[in-house]
Amino acid sequence: AHPEVHTDLPGPRSRELLARRDKAFEGPLRNYINVPFVLGEKHGHVLTDVDGNSFADHVSAWGAAPYGAQPPSVRDAVATAWDRYGMEISQYLSSEPVITLAERLIDLAPAGITRVAPTVTGTEAVEGAVKLAREATGRPIILGFLGQYHGESTYLTATTSTDMPGNTSHYTQYVPGVILLPYPQRFRAPFHRGPGPHDDTLCLDYLREWILRYQVEPEQVAGVLIEPVAGEAGILAPSQAFWDGLTGLCREYGWKLLLDEVQTCMGRCGTVFAAERWGLQPDLLLVGKGVTGGGQAVAGVLGTEEMMANAHAHLGGTYAWEPAACAGALAGLDLLADGRILANAKSMEAIAHEELSPLIDELGQVGDVRAAGAWACLEFVTGAGSTVPDPAFQHAVHRAALRKGVFAISEDTKPLYRMQPALTMELELFRWSCRQVADAARQ
Ligand code: PLP
Repeated sequence: AHPEVHTDLPGPRSRELLARRDKAFEGPLRNYINVPFVLGEKHGHVLTDVDGNSFADHVSAWGAAPYGAQPPSVRDAVATAWDRYGMEISQYLSSEPVITLAERLIDLAPAGITRVAPTVTGTEAVEGAVKLAREATGRPIILGFLGQYHGESTYLTATTSTDMPGNTSHYTQYVPGVILLPYPQRFRAPFHRGPGPHDDTLCLDYLREWILRYQVEPEQVAGVLIEPVAGEAGILAPSQAFWDGLTGLCREYGWKLLLDEVQTCMGRCGTVFAAERWGLQPDLLLVGKGVTGGGQAVAGVLGTEEMMANAHAHLGGTYAWEPAACAGALAGLDLLADGRILANAKSMEAIAHEELSPLIDELGQVGDVRAAGAWACLEFVTGAGSTVPDPAFQHAVHRAALRKGVFAISEDTKPLYRMQPALTMELELFRWSCRQVADAARQ
């Protein structure tokens, strides 16, 4: 049986709880993701709201539950380690799961990565990478990219932006020393040269231009902070030419490559790291989300010997890599080592294209369909040939898909509908979900 919705959304119990939530929490931003129900329980790849409606889970805790809810081996590993070690502060008192996790991540990482700095969140990992890059180079500036997401700390909100024209909600508190450049995006190019497709070399030319426009001395730039596949910007994957150009600039000017794989690490795009796809060799590689195995919070910075062996920048904190979280992460890596999970993620990419890409020709408002591994995204525009975003259509699709039992990501801040299931979602359920979304778009 497939997921099913049998009340209005929100249902009566959800409505009551959402009203309580709205009184108790800060600000209006909590509504920007438009989730009209409250979670009752979640098992495997299906969640149920407090009114008994069920939904296929295409959010998977924003990628932090990569093997569905409560994968048994992860749960057992967390519980066993907790029974054995309790809560412990690993930066002061190490234990075996902590050390083994560091070694396993180094083994999995691209060539040149030899060391790890533990953190609890992706935000802290990116913050740590900025500190390390500044320390290693003695330079102040970080180059970031428009449309990317790196976290909610004061510094990182300056590196984060969303691409909805007129969006005034989130990321306005800039700090000095961050310069945002256009990210290659072949469907729409809202940040530069007006709407319309453009290629990746243009984007690199533009990068050079911006450096001139802002009168940035390339010798003042510590590093380039970039997602290998831009997740929050809608599954944008640059070409090899872009990466070759960017890494060339890094070499030319001594910029460090800070690759943010918080969302893409551990199989999201069908390879353990997205970096593998273009043969990237980052100086610092940031991990989070999928590395938890869906157990407890684990994130970190992986880096080269040069960047990390003698660094003084201190990362970590009380909860960084507490032993039970590390044991859960190790159990997750054991699951990933069975190649079937990566193969499953790759199959989802093909299914997403089969089921959703025909909508581009069929419906003018579906401007683009993009997918990478267990990640798929529809981008909505006002009509055939248009590159103007259509948030009203986006809302309608999201609402209709919810009523059909598909829970995915649709934020007010961008004209995108994103499916981000666990890598382990049954292919039949994924295909069924894509069909519900396609029907929702046709309505
Ligand atoms: N970097 C990327 C690419 C992310 O997608 C996220 C979170 O969504 C972060 C960093 C921040 O991670 P966290 O939410 O664990 O602080």
